[in-house]
Amino acid sequence: MNIGQEVLELLKEEITDVQYNRYIKQLTYDAKKSGGDLAIFYAPNALISNWIKSKYSEKIAHLFEIKSGSKVSVKITLKNSTDSKSKKQKNEQKQHSLLNPSHTFDNFMVGGSNQFAYAAVKSVSEAAGQVYNPLFIYGGVGLGKTHLMQAAGNVFQNQGKSVIYTSVEQFLNDFIRHVRNKTMPSFQEKYRKCDVLLIDDIQFLSNKEGIQEEFFHTFEALKGNGKQIILTADKHPKKIGGLEKRLQSRFEWGLVADIQPPELETKIAIIKKKCEINKVKLSNDIINYIATVIESNVREIEGILSKLHAYSQLMHIDIDLAFTKNVLKDQLQENRANLTLDTITNNVAKDLNIKPTEIRSKGRSKNLVYARRISIYLCRELTQNTMPQLAQYFGMKDHTAISHTLKKINELMKNDEDFKVKIEELTNKITSAS
Ligand code: ADP
Ligand code: MG
Repeated sequence: MNIGQEVLELLKEEITDVQYNRYIKQLTYDAKKSGGDLAIFYAPNALISNWIKSKYSEKIAHLFEIKSGSKVSVKITLKNSTDSKSKKQKNEQKQHSLLNPSHTFDNFMVGGSNQFAYAAVKSVSEAAGQVYNPLFIYGGVGLGKTHLMQAAGNVFQNQGKSVIYTSVEQFLNDFIRHVRNKTMPSFQEKYRKCDVLLIDDIQFLSNKEGIQEEFFHTFEALKGNGKQIILTADKHPKKIGGLEKRLQSRFEWGLVADIQPPELETKIAIIKKKCEINKVKLSNDIINYIATVIESNVREIEGILSKLHAYSQLMHIDIDLAFTKNVLKDQLQENRANLTLDTITNNVAKDLNIKPTEIRSKGRSKNLVYARRISIYLCRELTQNTMPQLAQYFGMKDHTAISHTLKKINELMKNDEDFKVKIEELTNKITSAS
């Protein structure tokens, strides 16, 4: 048994049989291409690969570290995505991480939330080193930073440029290895002579002085030669603590662009795109449902799609709305565990421009009744509170008053399109902010 298989065996003990059989069992380890600080696994399709990446890759990396005693970066990829590459590309890839070939501009859905970052990366991809250098993209988890950065990387790679895509951690490991082997000149040659350097999640440089120093010199050399640098982080350079001043200011030299959580339309477009790529058929009401209830994190949306796909295949069931709701139940409960009645009421109040205390008052004016109905409905849907708890919170007599209100709301949901839209909009807003 090779180390990859051993690691998967270890993982088997930590997860349920269903999870193991459905996903992990489908992985094959490439003992030939793996080695050093790289472990490559192949998945049979993009859905399984994405699902494993989002759910298990950290665990696998951790188990690898336990087994091998050193840090490795785990790549879950599709078999033919590496086999079909030319020899030259293969050699290049040996030196650094693979760019995901499906992270292209075409596959990236643009909306208000990400159009600034998109436009910035796009123009950099059309004129390396000439417009914004460095380009710094920041935003929350799963909002498409890596995707965008690699989309530019793929463009450059197709032009025959030498592109290095790496994480701070890999950069650091590489550095340490070269220091240990006394081969620093080749480290410097590698990082200072490439055409394009992409470093993901640069916030991990924080408080690592030694590597900041090395990175500073790499940066200076590349920038001095007009080579393009693209960086991503979870926050604005100013907000990353533990960074040398000179680095922080350099990060802002070019352009700093943010990515915000996608709005409903963008989420819908992304889901449609992912369905197309992964050949999953979903009706519009299912797509709308997923877009409405799922948090902003796009990676999570992908997880849902592969889960739906896998379940429907295993159980030979067509994916309908009821089935979707069922599959999403656990996921939603996880997301919503942190939502409180106050959060929901405050959000509704803010949106409707009234005071939260008014919602909980006995006021009977039309807009208060409207706001209260919406709040009650959302509190019922998005939290685990019982009807008596809700009655107490909203200052109503008892649970029958709540139950009466919920009945009324259900009628409105059926007959009043505006009301329904408002509910969806607020659900979306509240669940993506949590
Ligand atoms: P981040 O690096 O910001 O954490 P990623 O770039 O890894 O996020 O994105 C997570 C997943 O969501 C990826 O599979 C990516 O393809 C997808 N994704 C994110 N934003 C979009 C978008 N606007 N259009 C299409 N796919 C997207
Ligand atoms: Mg990323």
